[in-house]
Amino acid sequence: MSSSTTPTTAPASSRTRAPGTPGRSDVVIVGAGIIGLAHAFEALSNGLSVTVVDRDRQPVGASVRNFGHCCISAQDGGLLALAQRSRPGWLRAAETVGIWAEQAGTLVVARSATEAAVLEELRDERGGDAVELRTAARTAALLGRADDAAGDLVGGAFLPADLRVNPREAAPGLARWVAEQPQGRVLWGTAVTGVEPGTVHTTRGPVHGDRILICVGHDLDYLFPDIAEGHGIQRCRLTMARAAAPAGFRTSSAVLTATSMLRYDAFTSRPSAALLREEVLGHSRELLDIGANVMFTRLPDGTVLVGDSHHYDATTTPFVDERTHELLTDAVARVLGVERLRVLERWQGVYASSPRGPLLVRDLAPGVRAISVTSGIGMTLSFGLAAATFDGTLAPTA
Ligand SMILES: Cc1cc2nc3c(=O)[nH]c(=O)nc-3n(C[C@H](O)[C@H](O)[C@H](O)COP(=O)(O)OP(=O)(O)OC[C@H]3O[C@@H](n4cnc5c(N)ncnc54)[C@H](O)[C@@H]3O)c2cc1C
Repeated sequence: MSSSTTPTTAPASSRTRAPGTPGRSDVVIVGAGIIGLAHAFEALSNGLSVTVVDRDRQPVGASVRNFGHCCISAQDGGLLALAQRSRPGWLRAAETVGIWAEQAGTLVVARSATEAAVLEELRDERGGDAVELRTAARTAALLGRADDAAGDLVGGAFLPADLRVNPREAAPGLARWVAEQPQGRVLWGTAVTGVEPGTVHTTRGPVHGDRILICVGHDLDYLFPDIAEGHGIQRCRLTMARAAAPAGFRTSSAVLTATSMLRYDAFTSRPSAALLREEVLGHSRELLDIGANVMFTRLPDGTVLVGDSHHYDATTTPFVDERTHELLTDAVARVLGVERLRVLERWQGVYASSPRGPLLVRDLAPGVRAISVTSGIGMTLSFGLAAATFDGTLAPTA
C-alpha cells in the first residue's frame, strides 16, 4: 500500500482488546448498508463465513433513506448489465430473508410530445417487451387521476423489469438474517479505524478475515481520503419526503417524470434528449437548478416517497432549504393531479457521487477491496455487484 492509502492505525489499547465475538471469518465486510449486506448475503450463499462491522446500531445510511427503486431499465451499457444481474439476486434475497420486493415495474409519465418522443426512441431501441408505451388515458388511470384522459398527460411508458423494495426494511432485514446464520455475525456500534491485509482495526479491537470488503459508501474519505479524493468522490445531498397517498393513487410502480429522463443514461442517450433538456429548462428552470429528479414510489403501507434534489459538496450542510421541499412536492402533486400533498415526514439523504465514474472498485492491498457506488444507484446495482465480486468478474475501476 502506498503512503496515500495507508489507513489509520488502531490505538494500542483497542488493538489488544478482543472484539464482541472471537474467530476469523472468510470475509469481513465494513458497512451494513445495502452494498455491504448484499455482499454478506452472497458470501453466505456461497458457503463462506462472514462478519459485518458497522459503526451504527442499525442501518441509517443511504440505504434506508432512498426510494427503494431498483431502477434497472433506465441504465445503459455496462451498468444495465450489472443492474439486470442484480434483479435475480434481489428476488432470491427477498424470498430467503422474507423482505418485500415487488416486480412492479416503473411508469414513466410523458406530458409533452418531446417526452413521449424520448420514450418512443427507447422503445425502438429496447423493443416493446422492455418498454411498453401507454396512452394518456391508461397513464392517468394508473396514477389514479380523475380529471384525465386529457389534462396535461400525453402518454407514458411502462418498464416491467424494474423492482421495488421497502428501503426501511431491506437493509435491516438482511442484517438480521446475516446475524441469524451460523456462519454470519454483525458487529454493531463498532467503528472501523484502519485496515491491513487480514485485519480490520475497530474501536472494539481487531477483527480478522481472509478477505476484507470496505463498503462504507460516501464515508470512504474518512478511512482512505486519498483514494476518495483521487476518484473525485463528493457527497450528494438529497431532499426527500413521505406523503399520504392522494385518493385514487394506486399504482405500485415507481413513477418517473421528465426530470428523471434527464438524469438516467437510457433516456439521455436518445436523439430527443437534448430537445427535452431545452424544453424542461424553459418551463421548469427552478427544478433543474436544484438538480431535481421528480419521482415517487409507494411504500407497502400506501404512503408515498417523494423526491428528490441533488446538491454536491465534499461535506454536506445540515440545513435543508424549504423551497426545495416545496418545489418537489408541488411537482409531484401536479403529476398526480392534486392541489397539494399532505407531507408526513421529511429527511435528507446522502450518497457518494463522482464525475469520474459510477463506481469505485479499488484493491487497496492483498485481500482488501473498497467498493462504493458513486452514482446514486446502489440499490439497483447491489446484488449484481455482490454476484460479480464472488464470481471474480468485478474488475477494479480506473
Ligand atoms: C435520497 C436517496 C434516494 C436514492 N434513491 C435510489 C434509488 O431509487 N435507487 C437506487 O438504486 N439507489 C438510490 N439511492 C442510492 C443508494 O441509496 C445508495 O447508492 C446505496 O444505498 C449505497 O449503499 P452503501 O451500502 O454503499 O451505503 P450506506 O447505506 O450509506 O451504508 C454505509 C454503511 O457504512 C457504515 N460505515 C461508514 N464508515 C464506517 C466505519 N468507519 N466503520 C464502520 N462502519 C462504517 C455506515 O454506518 C453505513 O451503515 C438513493 C440515495 C439517496 C440518499
